This record gives sequence, structure tokens and C-alpha cells, in this order.
Amino acid sequence: MIPAVFEYRAPTTIDEALSLLAANSDEAKILAGGHSLIPAMKLRLAQPGMLVDIGRIKDLAYIREQGDHIAIGAMTTHYQIESSALLKKICPLLPDCASHIGDVQVRNKGTIGGSVAHSDPAGDWPAAIIALNAQMVAVGANGERTINADDFFVDLLTTALTPGEILREIRVPKPSGRFVHSYQKVRHPASGFAVVGIAVAIKLAAEGTCETASVGVTGVASKAYRAATVEAALKGQQLNDQTIAQAAAHATDGVDANSDLYASEDYRRHLAQVFTKRAIHQAWISIK
Ligand SMILES: Cc1cc2nc3c(=O)[nH]c(=O)nc-3n(C[C@H](O)[C@H](O)[C@H](O)COP(=O)(O)OP(=O)(O)OC[C@H]3O[C@@H](n4cnc5c(N)ncnc54)[C@H](O)[C@@H]3O)c2cc1C
Repeated sequence: MIPAVFEYRAPTTIDEALSLLAANSDEAKILAGGHSLIPAMKLRLAQPGMLVDIGRIKDLAYIREQGDHIAIGAMTTHYQIESSALLKKICPLLPDCASHIGDVQVRNKGTIGGSVAHSDPAGDWPAAIIALNAQMVAVGANGERTINADDFFVDLLTTALTPGEILREIRVPKPSGRFVHSYQKVRHPASGFAVVGIAVAIKLAAEGTCETASVGVTGVASKAYRAATVEAALKGQQLNDQTIAQAAAHATDGVDANSDLYASEDYRRHLAQVFTKRAIHQAWISIK
């Protein structure tokens, strides 16, 4: 359980970090909270020759209202999001999701940027990031670019970030109008990761029908995904037990579900449908 030898660098600016990553492209890896990378190094699943610790770069940990969106710095910890009064008020899905991650130690050290950049298929954040239609701001040698949540999670432990790019910020559109949400999770009893995690964000029209629904699913497949068929089935509907159940039945449409010692493919599909129903229902009753 001891990692292979590596060099440790702690830049204090983004430019310095980008230079280190560019100059050591074959062997450098970014270190954020270390709660996924260090265990992977101890198991020799990752053997970077250099760690570029971005924890000393100023102004990478923040939660700010900026016009029509909320800006969250990549180094913001799960706990900072869980305890943010601003987010509890304007986007409670984020603190709710954060509260489901690991334990207090993990939430105090792990970062939202590290979690989404890692794209763990059982990580909690990707479901919420998709449900909230967030944008990822990446900075690299060619400047800055934004990537939509739907395009960001590419596959198992793979994102749209290119080598040498740093995820700098996550931008979440400010929910407006009658907006309700829920995050529902089945925790793996040993690791606490999501066997299934469902994030739902619903905007209600004045007459109470569902104007838009956004559903992110994690834990089920090799990467988090948008349950587009569920969203389409909810749109324009009056929410009730029947319409919710009919929509949730589509939670794994077109998806190759994972199978492991704890949960078979069929069981995972079943859990995803049950917990999608539960998440929509929880969101719905929060305004009844
Ligand atoms: C015991 C335990 C239980 C856990 N339980 C859960 C759980 O229930 N739910 C859950 O979602 N997670 C869980 N985690 C994982 C935890 O949330 C991690 O903190 C998170 O996955 C990674 O964030 P980090 O800041 O630790 O990133 P690191 O481990 O430092 O980095 C992870 C990866 O992302 C890359 N990276 C990091 N930051 C950036 C950036 N800004 N730009 C580009 N690349 C970057 C790194 O190079 C590395 O490849 C658990 C971890 C542990 C140890």
C-alpha cells in the first residue's frame, strides 16, 4: 500500500501548473484532494512520475453568484458545498448531493473538481452536474473553454478534458421559477459510493404541470448519463403517481448496466427505476 516513487510539485499559480503539466506531459498528474488519486497510486492502478498539487493555487475554492449562474471553483470541497448557505438557498440540490458523499473526512478533503475530473462511474457529483445542466470551465495551453455536462463524461474514468488541461470552475445555471429537486442514492455498504444515484431537477409551469425535467443517473453504467426518455415522458405532464411511475420505468433505456459482486445488471436496472421514481416523487411532494 505504498505508492511508487514520484516527484511532488506545488505551484502557486495556474500558469505555473500548466507549464509543469506541459513540460512533464508523459508523467505528470494533477493532485486535488487526493481521495481518489492517492488510493489508486497505492494500489498501483496509477503510477504518475510527478504530482502537480493544485491545492496552493489561490482562488480555486469559491462559491459565487455570477449573473445567471453560480460559479464553483474546482478546489471547493464537498463539505464547503454541503454547508454553503448560498447554495442551500438558491440551488439546494448541490448541498444535498454533497451530503451523500463518503464520510466527514472524505467530504472535508475531496473536491468537486477532482470528483468530476475523475469520472468515477459510482461518483455522486456527475448525476447532479448533469441534472443541473452545468458547464465545466477548463484551462489549458490554448486558453479557456467550456464543456457542457452532457459532453464532459465520456466513459469510465474518462472525461472530455485533454492532457494538460485543468478543470478550473463548474458553472451551474441559477434555477429560476418553481424549481424542485431531489437526489436519491443507494449507498454501497462498504465504500459508500453510489450503487445507484439519481438527481432530478424539475421546473413546474404556473398551472403545476412539468415544464422541464432534468434527470442525471450515476452508478448504473460506465459513466453518468442523462435519462432523456424519462425527461421526455415527464415534460408537459401533470405529476401524479401514475405519470411518475410511467416515466421512471425508462430510467435505463438504451443503457448497458454494470454488474458486479454486489449488484447484478438486472438488480441495478431495477434500483435505477425505483430510485428515479422516488427522486421525482420527493421533488414533487416538496412543493405540494
Ligand atoms: C473512503 C472513501 C469514500 C468515498 N466515497 C465517495 C462517495 O460516496 N461518493 C463519491 O462521489 N465519492 C466518494 N469518494 C471519492 C471522493 O469524493 C474524492 O474526493 C473524489 O472522487 C476525487 O476528488 P479529489 O479532490 O480527492 O481528487 P484527486 O483524488 O486528487 O484527483 C482525482 C483525479 O482527478 C484529477 N483532477 C483532480 N482535480 C483536477 C482538476 N481541477 N482538473 C483536472 N483534473 C483534476 C486528478 O489528476 C486525478 O486523476 C470516496 C473516497 C474515499 C477515499
